[in-house]
Amino acid sequence: MESGKRGLEAAWNKALEQIEDEVSEQEFATWFRGVEYAGGTDSQLQLSVPNSFTKDQLTQRYLPKIEEKLAELTGEDVSVKLSVQRKRSREAAEEAPTAPKKAEEAPGRARRQHPQLNREYTFERFIIGESNSFAANAALAISKNPGTGYNPCLIYGGVGLGKTHLVQAIGNAVTREFPDLKVAYVTVEAFANEFIQSIQKKAGHQFKNRYRSVDVLLIDDVHFLEGKEGTQEELFHTFNALYDANKQMVFTSDRPVSEIRSLSDRLRSRFERGLNVDLKPPDYETRKAILNRKIEEKKIGIPDEVVTLICRNITTNIRDLEKALTKLMAYSELVNKTITLEVAQQQLKDFFPQMGGKNITIEGIQRIVAEYFGLTHKDLRGKRRTKAVAFPRQVAMYIARDLTEFSTTEIGSEFGGRDHTTVMHGCQRVEDRLKVDPILEVALQNLLKKIREHNVQ
Ligand code: ADP
Ligand code: MG
Repeated sequence: MESGKRGLEAAWNKALEQIEDEVSEQEFATWFRGVEYAGGTDSQLQLSVPNSFTKDQLTQRYLPKIEEKLAELTGEDVSVKLSVQRKRSREAAEEAPTAPKKAEEAPGRARRQHPQLNREYTFERFIIGESNSFAANAALAISKNPGTGYNPCLIYGGVGLGKTHLVQAIGNAVTREFPDLKVAYVTVEAFANEFIQSIQKKAGHQFKNRYRSVDVLLIDDVHFLEGKEGTQEELFHTFNALYDANKQMVFTSDRPVSEIRSLSDRLRSRFERGLNVDLKPPDYETRKAILNRKIEEKKIGIPDEVVTLICRNITTNIRDLEKALTKLMAYSELVNKTITLEVAQQQLKDFFPQMGGKNITIEGIQRIVAEYFGLTHKDLRGKRRTKAVAFPRQVAMYIARDLTEFSTTEIGSEFGGRDHTTVMHGCQRVEDRLKVDPILEVALQNLLKKIREHNVQ
C-alpha cells in the first residue's frame, strides 16, 4: 500500500484531471491553475491557493466535488484545507522576473496621480452589494496581484453599473501600490482614434510600442469594437504580446462577449479566455447604500424619506441615481430651499417616468393594495378600524403619498374623510415597520411594481 502522503498527492492529481474533463476550459484555468498540493496527512489534504478570492470561490463552488472525488479515489474521508500562500520570494522572483514591487519597497517616490484615471474612482468609494460583489472582488484581487491571477479579465454589464469605476479603481490601486508598474487606461474609442491617427502620421510603431510596453492595460467599452476591423486586428496583436509577457489586461463591455457582433473569432476567444464577470443592476439595499454614501460624501442634508423615494423609483442603474441627486442639489442651491419630500417629487418627476402623478389615482392604488391583502378597495375607503384593515390602509396611504402628488389632506379625504394628521401618522407607522421588517419591504416593492405596470397599460 502507498504511504498516506504520497497516495493523497496522487489522488489529488487524479482528481484534478477528472475536474479538468468535467468543467469548461475557462473555468478550469480560472479556478484551478494556481492551486498547488501543499502537503497532507491521512485524512487531510492541504492545498495552497494564490489569493483569498480563489479560496472563497473554490470553497463555495468546488469543495464538495473535490472531497467527493478524493473519497472515491482513496476510499476514505478526506477533508481539504485551502490556504492562501504567497510564493516564497526567491521562487516568485524566478518565476516572474517582473514581480511587481510594492509601494513600501520603493520608498522616496511621491504619490503619482495617473493622468488617464479619475482619482475618485477608487475601491474605497465603490459600494459592494450582491449585484456587484463578484466583479468587485475579482477587480480587488487583480489589483493586489496584477498579472498573476485572473488574466485577462472582462467585466460586463449595462450602462451606469460601475464598469468604468471598477476598472479605473484597479488602475488607481495599482498606481498607488506598485509605483513601478506602468498602467494604461484607454477607451476603445480613444484606442481606435489613436490607432487611425498613428497610421495617418505613419507613426504606427510608436503606437504599438506604447501599448505593448505597459504592465497593466485597462480597456474600457470593448463593445465599441463592433465593425472596427483594423482596430480589432491591432488589439489582437497587442493582446498576444501582453499575454505572452504575463501582463495584466482588464476589459469592460456592456454585454457578454458572445453578444458583441462582428467581432473576430480570434479576439472573441481571447476575451473569453480569462475570467468573465458581470455587474448586475443594483438591488434596493445596494441602491440605498450607494446613495447614502454619495450624500455623505457631498455633505448635504437629505431626509431619509427622500432617499427612500429615489431608491424605490430609480431602479435602472447608479448613474441615474446620481443624476437625481445632482438635480436635487442644484435645485436646493439655486432656489435656496431645503429638500423635502414634496420638493423631491416635484423636481424628480422626469426621473420617475412611470410615476406620472397624473395617471396614478388613489383609487387605483387602493384597488391594488386591497387585492394584495385580500380586501376590497371599499374596505380601505371605509371607516372600519380593525387591524386587518388599518394596516393595509396605512400602506395604501404611504404609497399614495410616494407615488402621487396629492397632499396629505387630499389623500385623507379619499380614505373615508380622514384628516391629514391621520395620513401622516399612518405613513410614519409604515416607515417604522419597514425599518424592522424586510418582508414588508419586499411586499412594498411588489406592490409598487404592480401599480406601475397597471399604470403603463
Ligand atoms: P459604466 O461604466 O458601467 O457605465 P460607471 O462606472 O461610469 O458605469 O458608473 C456610473 C456612476 O456610478 C459613476 O459615477 C460611479 O462612480 C457610480 N457607481 C457605480 N457603481 C458604484 C458603486 N458600487 N458604488 C459607488 N458608486 C458607484
Ligand atoms: Mg463606462
